[in-house]
Amino acid sequence: MHSNYFTENPDLLFHLQHPVFEEIVTLREDNFRQSELFPQAPADYAAALAEYKEKLTLVGRLCAEQIAPRATAVDREGAHFAAGKVSYAAGTKENLRLLTEAGLMGVTLPRQYGGLNFPRTVYTMMTEMVSGADASLQNLFGLQDISETIYLFGDEEMRQKYLPLFTSGEVDGAMALTEPEAGSDLQSVQTTAEFDQASGMWLLNGHKHFITNGCARILLVLARSEPGSEDGRGLSLFLLENGPGVEIKRIEDKLGLHGSPTCELLLHNAPAQLIGQRRRGLTRYVMSLMNGARLAIAAQSQGIAEAAYRLALRYCSERKQFGKPLRQLAPVNEMLLRMKVNIMAGRSLLYETSRYVDLRDSYERMNNSSAEVSPENRQKEKNFSRIAALLTPLSKAFSTEMCNQACYDSIQCHGGKGYMQDLEPERLYRDARITNIYEGTTQMQIVAAIGGIMQRSLEPLLDEITSLTYSGKLAEIASEIAKARKVFNAAISHVEQKADGYFFDLMARRLVAMQTVVLIACLLLRDAGNNQERQQLCRCFIDMYLPEINCHYQIITAEEKVTAEQKEKILEM
Ligand SMILES: Cc1cc2nc3c(=O)[nH]c(=O)nc-3n(C[C@H](O)[C@H](O)[C@H](O)COP(=O)(O)OP(=O)(O)OC[C@H]3O[C@@H](n4cnc5c(N)ncnc54)[C@H](O)[C@@H]3O)c2cc1C
Repeated sequence: MHSNYFTENPDLLFHLQHPVFEEIVTLREDNFRQSELFPQAPADYAAALAEYKEKLTLVGRLCAEQIAPRATAVDREGAHFAAGKVSYAAGTKENLRLLTEAGLMGVTLPRQYGGLNFPRTVYTMMTEMVSGADASLQNLFGLQDISETIYLFGDEEMRQKYLPLFTSGEVDGAMALTEPEAGSDLQSVQTTAEFDQASGMWLLNGHKHFITNGCARILLVLARSEPGSEDGRGLSLFLLENGPGVEIKRIEDKLGLHGSPTCELLLHNAPAQLIGQRRRGLTRYVMSLMNGARLAIAAQSQGIAEAAYRLALRYCSERKQFGKPLRQLAPVNEMLLRMKVNIMAGRSLLYETSRYVDLRDSYERMNNSSAEVSPENRQKEKNFSRIAALLTPLSKAFSTEMCNQACYDSIQCHGGKGYMQDLEPERLYRDARITNIYEGTTQMQIVAAIGGIMQRSLEPLLDEITSLTYSGKLAEIASEIAKARKVFNAAISHVEQKADGYFFDLMARRLVAMQTVVLIACLLLRDAGNNQERQQLCRCFIDMYLPEINCHYQIITAEEKVTAEQKEKILEM
C-alpha cells in the first residue's frame, strides 16, 4: 500500500525534526568528536540528520517492497518446530537476511562494537515501520535490545565477545523471564542459579515459558541466585549460550504473530555467566531491559494501528453504499477520524517518551564516562530518568489499547470482508491483541505509572508546555487544558486523602487515563504551536477526550454505594 513507510509518513519526519533532537544527537556523538575516531560518524548535526533520514528511507523501502508483501505468507506458514529445533518461515528468514545486510542489527549500539550509535528515537521509528509491515518480524528485529542490555550491564570482556556478533547478525537474542508461576509477578521466578566452582560458571535449572525466539543463540535468563530468598532481591541476570542444558520443549500455537516463535524452555544445569552484580537482575537490569521493550511495543502498536488505518481509509474511499463512498457516511467518517487522531496522539506521546529516554541515556553515558560530573548534569540525568520512567508505561498503555481499538475499527470499516482471512485487517487484529499483554499488561503499566503520577512527576513538563505563548484558537485550547488539569489534580488529592489501598488500586486506572489525556493534550498543543497545520488535530483530540476528565472525576469522587463484599457476591450470581 505504501511505496515507502518513511517518506510517505510525514508525521514521522515531523517528530524526527523536533527541536530538542539536536541536543540528543550532539550528546550521543560526544559533541561530534566521534567523527575523529570513526570515518562513518557524522561531523555535525546536519550530517547526522541526513544519515538518519537515509537509513529510515531504506527501512521504509524494505518494509514496502519486501517485508509487507510477504507478511500474509509468513502468517500462514508460521514458525516450525521439529525434533527440538525451531525454524522460521521462509519469508521471515529472507526479511532477517535483508535487515542484517542493511547493517541494522545494532542500531543503537556504539560504533566500537559495530553498531550505528543511532538515538533510540530513530530506532523507534524503524520499529514502528517494521511492525506496520509485519508485526511478527519486529519481535525478532527488536531483540537487538538484548545486546543493548549486555552493553549496559555486562563487563568489557563480555561486550567485546558478544556485541560484534549481534551487530553482524551472527547471533540473535531472547529474554527468558516468564515462568508458568511467574508472569506479571516476576519476583516469584523459581529458576535457580548455582555457582559451580569447578567450571567457574553458574548452572541454571528451571522452566521458562512464552519466550519469544527462545531458540536464539544468546538467552538472557532471570534466575534465583540467592538460596532461601523469595523476592526480587534474590534474582540475578545471566547470559546463557544456547547449547547443552537448554531444551526447547515446544513452540506455542498462538492467535497471532505466527512468524515469531514463542518457546517453552527447560534448563538442566545449563552453564551461564552472571551479568553485572548478583541480586540486581530484576530490580535494575530487567527493569531497564523491559522499559526499552515497552517503548518498542508502543512503537509496534503504532505501526500496526497505522497499517490498520490505511487499509480502512482506502477501503472506505473505494467502496460505495447508499450511493456514496463509505467514508462520506458520518458514522464511518467518525470511526476513521478517531483512528487517525488516536494514532497521531499516540505517536506524539511515543516520540516524546523516546526523546526523554534518549536524553536520559545520553546524560547517563556522558556522566558515567566523565572523570568529574557537574551537579547540574547529574541533576539533569536524574530528572530525565524520572520523566522517562513515567512516560514509558503511559505510552505503552495508551498505544497498545489504541492499537487494539484501531484494528477493531478497521475490521468494522471493512464490514463482512474485514472478518475474512483473505484481507489484512484480520491478521492485524490478531497480531494487535498481544500488545497490551506482553512486556507487562496494561494493568501492570498502571502499577508502574501510578507512583509517578501521585508524585506529580509530570507537572514541570506540563508547566513548561502550557507556559509557552499561544494565541487565538490555541489560547482557547490552553485554557481548556488548564481547567482539565485542575480537575485532574483534585482527583489525585481526593484519592490521596482517602488513604485506602483498595480504593487506590481501583481508581489508579482512572488517574492514569486522566494523566494521559492531559499530557497528550499538552503535547498536541505544543506541536500545533510549532506547526499550524496541526491545530485542528489538537482541537479534535480535545473535543474527543477532555470530557472524559470530568467523567472520571465524578466516578472517583462519588460515594461508594456497592461494597467490595457485595461486588464479590455479584461475581457469583
Ligand atoms: C506471544 C508472547 C510472547 C512473549 N514473549 C516473552 C518473552 O520473550 N520473554 C518473557 O520473559 N516473557 C514473554 N511473554 C510473557 C508475557 O510477558 C506475560 O504473558 C505477561 O507478562 C503476563 O503474564 P501472565 O501471562 O502470566 O499473566 P498473569 O500475570 O497471570 O495476569 C493475568 C491477568 O491478571 C492481571 N494482573 C496480574 N497482576 C496484577 C496486578 N498486580 N494488578 C492488576 N492486574 C494484575 C493481568 O493484567 C492480566 O490481566 C510473552 C507472552 C506472549 C503471549
